Amino acid sequence: GKTVERIAAGEVVERPASVVKELVENSLDADATRVSVAVESGGKDGIRVEDDGIGMSEAEVRKAVEEHTTSKIRDIEDLEAGVTTLGFRGEALHAIGAVSRLTVETRPRGGDRGTRLRVEGGEVTSVEPTGCPEGTTIEVEDLFYNVPARRKYLKQDGTEFAHVNDLVTSYALANPDVAVALEHDGRETFATTGDGNLQSAVLSVYGRDVAKGMVSVDADGAGDGDDFPEGPLDGVSGLVSHPETNRASREYVTTYVNGRYVRSATVRDAVVEAYGNQLAPDRYPFAVLDLSLPADTVDVNVHPRKMEVRFADAEGVAEQVRTAVEDALLREGL
Ligand code: ADP
Ligand code: MG
Repeated sequence: GKTVERIAAGEVVERPASVVKELVENSLDADATRVSVAVESGGKDGIRVEDDGIGMSEAEVRKAVEEHTTSKIRDIEDLEAGVTTLGFRGEALHAIGAVSRLTVETRPRGGDRGTRLRVEGGEVTSVEPTGCPEGTTIEVEDLFYNVPARRKYLKQDGTEFAHVNDLVTSYALANPDVAVALEHDGRETFATTGDGNLQSAVLSVYGRDVAKGMVSVDADGAGDGDDFPEGPLDGVSGLVSHPETNRASREYVTTYVNGRYVRSATVRDAVVEAYGNQLAPDRYPFAVLDLSLPADTVDVNVHPRKMEVRFADAEGVAEQVRTAVEDALLREGL
C-alpha cells in the first residue's frame, strides 16, 4: 500500500543495532514485562530477543514476516494522528528475514501451543508447532550472510556491541517498568528489575558510581519556586548526574520525547551548558530526561533509523532544558 511507501522503506537494517532496535520495539509494543537481549560477536553472528509479551498465533506469525504487514496501523490518517506504538512501518521483520536466518518461536498468551517459523534469505523454510513459553523469541543468525557488500562494512565486534548497548540501555531507561537484560557472548552486561523506578534502572545499567547522588529534575512551571520558563515544552522530568560523577569519556544524555527515545544534540548541549564550569576536568554529565510537548511541535520521524528529532523551536527547547537542569542542581545546593 501507499501508506508504507510514504515512509522511508528499505532503511531498516543497517547493522546489528538496527535489528535489535526493531525487535525490542516489537517486544515493548507487545506489552512485554520482560525483554532479554543476547548477542554474539557484537550481533554479527547472532541476536536473540526474548519477551513475555502477547505472542502470536500461527496465522499471525506467518503474516508478520510478510512484506509490509503490520497489526498496528490502518492508513495514513492513523499515521498523521500520531501513532502510539513504536513500530508502525510493518516492514521490519520482513526486512530482517531477507538478510539473515531468522527464527521466530511464539505462543499467544493463554494459547495452548506455540509456533516455530524459520526464514532464510527472505524465504519461509519451515513452520511447525512447538512447545515454548508464552511470548516471543526471535533469533537472527548470520546477519547479511547473503549481502557480502553489507557484511563487509560491519565494524569490529566491540564497536557493533557498543551500538547495541547504547540502544538497549536507552530502552531500559525509558521503560523502568520492564525488566530489560542484555548479554554479550554469554556474559551479562546489565539487567534491570522492572520495578518501575528510574533510579533503580540507572543503578542496574550504569552502576553505583553513576547512580550515586543523582539529582531529580521535575519542571513544569506548576510548582512554587519553579522558574521553568515559557516555551514549547510542557515539562521536563528525569535524572541528572551529580557534577562530580565520573562517567566514561563523554557526556551521556538520554532523551525521550513524550516517552519515546530520540537523539537530540539540542538537548545534549543544553544539559552540558547547565553544568557551566562546575564540572571538574574529565567529568561528564549524565542525564535521562523525558520532555513533554505537543506532538505537532516536534518531528520524531526525520529519519526513522537514526532517531534524530527536530523541534519546531529548538532554541526554546534548549532554554527550557537548561533552566530545568540548572534549577535542579541549585535546589541540591550544587
Ligand atoms: P510493525 O512493528 O511495524 O508492525 P514489524 O515487521 O516490526 O512491523 O512486525 C510485524 C508484526 O508482527 C507486528 O505488527 C506484530 O503484529 C507482530 N510482532 C512482531 N514482533 C512481535 C512480538 N515480539 N510479539 C508479538 N507480536 C509481534
Ligand atoms: Mg516493528
